Amino acid sequence: MDFALRTDDFALLNDYPHRRYNPLTDSWVLVSPHRAKRPWQGQVEKLAPDTRPAHDPDCYLCAGNVRANGEQNPPYEDVYVFDNDFASLLEDTPSAELQTGDLFLARLERGVGRVICFSPRHDLTIPDMEVGAIRKVVDAWVTEYEVLGAKSFVNYVQIFENKGAVMGCSNPHPHGQIWAQESIPDEPLKKQHAQLKYWDLHSKTLLSDYLDAELNGAPGVTARERVLFENEQFVALVPFWAVWPFEAMIVPKRPMARISEMTHAERDGLADAYKQLTVRYDALFQTSFPYSAGIHQAPTDGIDHPEWHFHMVFYPPLLRSATVKKFMVGYEMLANPQRDITPEKAAELLRG
Ligand SMILES: [Zn+2]
Repeated sequence: MDFALRTDDFALLNDYPHRRYNPLTDSWVLVSPHRAKRPWQGQVEKLAPDTRPAHDPDCYLCAGNVRANGEQNPPYEDVYVFDNDFASLLEDTPSAELQTGDLFLARLERGVGRVICFSPRHDLTIPDMEVGAIRKVVDAWVTEYEVLGAKSFVNYVQIFENKGAVMGCSNPHPHGQIWAQESIPDEPLKKQHAQLKYWDLHSKTLLSDYLDAELNGAPGVTARERVLFENEQFVALVPFWAVWPFEAMIVPKRPMARISEMTHAERDGLADAYKQLTVRYDALFQTSFPYSAGIHQAPTDGIDHPEWHFHMVFYPPLLRSATVKKFMVGYEMLANPQRDITPEKAAELLRG
């Protein structure tokens, strides 16, 4: 394509529709900053305060309760991990590939689904929990990543949290999931390809160079414009290529391929950053902020993967208030994602 101007004057992005490149997934997002200036006619309303009991006798995740399959949860005191009773992947799946010509291809997929209760308290969420209690969640993630990843058939472990009814999460009890499987799923695989390409060219991880530019600036890039906060070990920021209005990433300052490489101090740092970010989310619209979050890291395929720089991503759907949600429809379903508010403005609002 011919461009009238090649420049690193990123100030142009405040005024004109543009596409931003995501080097981690080799994809684009359309940003329309001029639309964020139009008057907002929608309702801005708060949700009624959430009054949940500390223990709900009908919740299948609360301590001591009986689950649908008849198993009883133990009287757990911090984190509790168990096999998902309705897992999407099954360990006793045989191995087979089915193919007819070039057009019909399928593979049986073997895997394991685990549920992780963050706390026995039904009425808490991560931002309400003490950093010490969140650290136990981080420790459980590491253990699950190592134990599941050590299974010979498991090549990828996806750790994630789906929070809030608006995200389709059926139970408000603070919990997350871990799916371990034979294949590397599409999203981390895209990131692996991009990081490997970068590593081969620069002998550094893509995200260490990206963090450096976000923290210290680069030609045309204002230092810390998208940075939300940092602690000694981690940086939280709204990425330059964010798709969701208040999308964020937590990235370790030290390049590590996998969460099992973290020191004790780094595990504390991740727990602290997880809390700090979710506290900011809750404060933004004075609501228990829904999101899908998770960790992208190296596969457990027995290969070193120096190109991988693990990170945690947060994709929250809220746009303007506790009830006004961003929809990925129309152009986004048919072309590519689009946003109005710029990532820089989102970072400014989240910093408060
Ligand atoms: Zn519960």
